[in-house]
Amino acid sequence: MKELRLHVLDTFALLLCIGVIAMWVRGCSDNDYLFYCSGVEKQPSGYEVSGFTTRWANGSVSFSHERLRSLPASSYVPSIPSKGWHYSSIRASAPATPQTTVHQWFGFGWSHTVDQPFLTGGLASISELLLPYWFLAMITGGPSIFWFFRTIRKGIRGLRIRPGICPACGYDIRATPNRCPECGTVIGIHSSN
Ligand SMILES: [Zn+2]
Repeated sequence: MKELRLHVLDTFALLLCIGVIAMWVRGCSDNDYLFYCSGVEKQPSGYEVSGFTTRWANGSVSFSHERLRSLPASSYVPSIPSKGWHYSSIRASAPATPQTTVHQWFGFGWSHTVDQPFLTGGLASISELLLPYWFLAMITGGPSIFWFFRTIRKGIRGLRIRPGICPACGYDIRATPNRCPECGTVIGIHSSN
């Protein structure tokens, strides 16, 4: 049962890995945005809006949280998306470089700015985390690689479990059937695992 559950998780991780690789390839030509907008709220200090954005760009996936506050009731406010989930995609004309992320290392990156003056007035707070595709592919594909080699190893061991052959090293143990003289493996009920 435990084995089955691990296989289900492994299959799920493998599908995620395939998805990540597909987005990796797609990121070279298109940048996809999936974001949630909280909707504009009127506060005593001005208009306020916050949201969560994932951007599938070239090289890395960006996860960011944005909050705009004290926005003047200008023409900008109506252009803010409505409350809820949104998706958009733009053609990547040039290699996309993260705009807000300050610290970067092998495609990893992060930045955190609090209450910076915003273009149209008001203050912007932005936290951004960048994770490279290679890292996402590695953590989602890792379990599959592990299972692949484990299955092969088990298969090889399975072939060796024959009378008179050590299951660990394949040595002829017909003379000493309880213990392998070559590698010291004790042959018993535990030897098949
Ligand atoms: Zn042996």
